Amino acid sequence: MKKIFILALIFISSLSSAQKTENIIIITTDGFRWQEVFKGMDSKIANDKDFNQDDKSYINKKYKSSDDKESRKKIMPFLWSEIASKGQIYGNRDLGNKVDVSNPYWFSYPGYSEIMTGNVDKRINTNGHKANPNVNVLEFLNQQPQIKGKTIAFGAWNAFDRILNEKRSNFPVISAFDSIGGNKPTEIQKLLNEMKANSFKPFHEDECLDVFTHYQAFNELQTNKPKVLYIAYGETDEWAHRGHYRSYLDAANQVDTWIKEIWNFVQNDPQYKNKTTLLITVDHGRGDKKKPEWTSHGDDIEGASEIWFAVMGPEIAPKGEIKTESQIYQKQFAQTIAKIMGYTFKADHEVAEEIKAVFEN
Ligand SMILES: [Zn+2]
Repeated sequence: MKKIFILALIFISSLSSAQKTENIIIITTDGFRWQEVFKGMDSKIANDKDFNQDDKSYINKKYKSSDDKESRKKIMPFLWSEIASKGQIYGNRDLGNKVDVSNPYWFSYPGYSEIMTGNVDKRINTNGHKANPNVNVLEFLNQQPQIKGKTIAFGAWNAFDRILNEKRSNFPVISAFDSIGGNKPTEIQKLLNEMKANSFKPFHEDECLDVFTHYQAFNELQTNKPKVLYIAYGETDEWAHRGHYRSYLDAANQVDTWIKEIWNFVQNDPQYKNKTTLLITVDHGRGDKKKPEWTSHGDDIEGASEIWFAVMGPEIAPKGEIKTESQIYQKQFAQTIAKIMGYTFKADHEVAEEIKAVFEN
């Protein structure tokens, strides 16, 4: 009898080490630099009148600290409290922890394609590229019998329809000024749709403000409960290109607040609580060696291949900020996303292996 009891205990403990993640939320904030993530506000940029939008005292008051660790926490308080204590954060190059894109282009479409397909397709060399011929991991997950039809993506930029090949991939991609709710939107969905359609459009029809993408995605999370949710914010890149450092930092700070809002919901909902993994990353880095190049990226900008990522969930040991030397590549995210969900991503193209360190204790 005692033997059976012990065997049962061993069986139960082996079960508890099995797959725990049943939902994944992937978040990107376009071109947000590792420099601000790990070192906080760059005072040289903040004090440069070309970049501070005549609002030096505002950004200094809101984000400045003589301690880099304080400043970074002011920009991303949720990342540097909850995720730093319960998840893992990679990409602090000052400690030798390197994350880079593998594609040779260092701009958005190739970057998002690399994240989602696990592969570098050198033909994808323009943001205007047609629908992505490569199958992505979201599409792959959406085809798995147990989670079929439970995938959805929201992107502020209209290119996500092509990047994720909405036509072929067979899951909804709500991008730019797309509305939600189909023919029967709820009152909340109607209001969200109207506000977005009639909002300020600093990026013309190509991209909406992040606030609309966020609340459409958050509404989806609360109502339809997807198992695979992707949210792509865009303002960090847009304001950086305009040289607006205040708005760039504010956009990142706002994304951090939204991630907190999402996580609070997740951890108070029975479908999601302790069964959801969060992965946060970016499509490319930006310049830094020559300070004015922080606004830009592309293969002619030194350092624009340098990225970062954070991950938190039931399979993820609470290692916090990773301080060991290593080299990780963007193309490894797709298989990492699949493995977190308990699958192996296979496609017609080559798929880079998962990031092993993420799963190690
Ligand atoms: Zn850009």
